[in-house]
Amino acid sequence: MQRSILVTGGSRGIGAAIARAFLEQGDQVAVAQRGSEVPAGAHAIRCDVSDPQQVAAAFKEARELHGPIEVLVNNAGIADNMLLMGMRNEQFFRVLATNLGGSFYATRCVYPDMVRMSRGRIIFVSSVAALRGSEGMANYAASKSALIGLARSLAREIGPRNVTVNVVAPGLVSTDLAKDLSEQRREQIIGETALRRCGTPEEVASAVTWLASKDAGFVTGAVIPVDGGFGMGH
Ligand code: NDP
Repeated sequence: MQRSILVTGGSRGIGAAIARAFLEQGDQVAVAQRGSEVPAGAHAIRCDVSDPQQVAAAFKEARELHGPIEVLVNNAGIADNMLLMGMRNEQFFRVLATNLGGSFYATRCVYPDMVRMSRGRIIFVSSVAALRGSEGMANYAASKSALIGLARSLAREIGPRNVTVNVVAPGLVSTDLAKDLSEQRREQIIGETALRRCGTPEEVASAVTWLASKDAGFVTGAVIPVDGGFGMGH
């Protein structure tokens, strides 16, 4: 049966792979992003997730088109790296506003329908940086570890209504976001990754579609690493 899916930041990188994976399963997919092209077959909604009014309008549009959202993937994210001593207030809070604020606004929009329907899946795309920390990425890591607290609190709150809430924590994946890393840092990360390579957006997407599947019906509050062994022990 076709489900109504919304993927934030589904225009590029990991989000686009997630949107394509759901489309391949025959689901109806809406993608919220700031204006890039979206995968063929997905419905594009222009929306800056750091703005609660734009998020509310985007979810209204998706709901009118595809019906109540049954699977929400909070994927939109940015990085803006700088050693902490040089990090500006604006730089710190802008990353939090998108990565954490955006996920909060989006999740609040789907909550009432999921409770009413007594079903739903919410998946947050965090990062291995949430657990390991990452030098020069304190703003990013803070936003990504906050998602775990948000997800696990919500899992407890909404679990009795048959809604699961989980987190995927990718390691290094070759996308636009990862382009900011120096070659030296990239090689260092790959050297510490058990599988000695970057992940692909599709490998992250398959963990997300599994969490949204019937097979994952008893999985909630989980943090699933998709990091080639980079974060082991964290
Ligand atoms: P990309 O930069 O390739 O894509 C980011 C996506 O987020 C784009 O679709 C972009 O769309 C969207 N986006 C960014 N800001 C906003 C905003 N304010 N409002 C709406 N959409 C927004 O990044 P990745 O695919 O690499 O990252 C996807 C997620 O995976 C992020 O949450 C990231 O933190 C996480 N992640 C990535 C890793 C990696 O190594 N790549 C590792 C671990 C986690 P547009 O520009 O059109 O608005």
